Amino acid sequence: MKNHYQHTRFHLGTPTPRQAPPDTGMEVAFAGRSNAGKSSALNVITSQKALARTSKTPGRTQHINFFTVDEQRRLVDLPGYGYAKVSKDIKDRWHRGIAQYLETRQSLRGVILLMDIRHPLKEFDRQVLTWCHNAGLSAHVLLTKADKLKRAPAKAVLLKVRGNLAELHPLATVQLFSALTPAGAGEARAVLDQWLEFPPQDPPED
Ligand code: GDP
Repeated sequence: MKNHYQHTRFHLGTPTPRQAPPDTGMEVAFAGRSNAGKSSALNVITSQKALARTSKTPGRTQHINFFTVDEQRRLVDLPGYGYAKVSKDIKDRWHRGIAQYLETRQSLRGVILLMDIRHPLKEFDRQVLTWCHNAGLSAHVLLTKADKLKRAPAKAVLLKVRGNLAELHPLATVQLFSALTPAGAGEARAVLDQWLEFPPQDPPED
């Protein structure tokens, strides 16, 4: 399958949604707790070694970072939440920023939510899913670091999370993901392709 994301480039980072690029075209946002594996996933999905490093630059970790896929399409890295030791004030402000972005951004087609397979559905993950549901936004969950579990336990978490999603966001989908193997990246790209309206591709002939 063609990878439409390999020419993705960093565009800009902004501390609040107000300085975001013009709200035209289409974009997909990536959300997740710090350390969930968001940067690794962005790099694997775009087949780039260091695309998301920008988001880790000191001073940028709390920014919303915009990446250009092509003239009409963007990927957006939302600030990691939940892990950093920051004051409640700052945390509240950045939660509000994310909520505001999710609720108001017209070009936003869906949210990829990343959760470490060993710690799924923490409070803020539930919050993001509820915001998405309320805003009528599609959501797709990547259970990251799936390589840390054996097949059967990983499958068990997948089924459990799928069951929980039925309450939080009935239309949300979920998959296993590992930055160490290519299979999950293809599945994630297929979701992005659909949301970002890339024409459907024929499956490869074998
Ligand atoms: P972020 O804070 O969400 O951007 O997380 P990172 O992508 O920086 O990953 C956090 C840590 O988890 C790093 O040490 C990564 O090497 C590790 N990591 C990320 N994805 C995977 C994965 O799929 N498998 C394994 N085993 N480790 C991973």
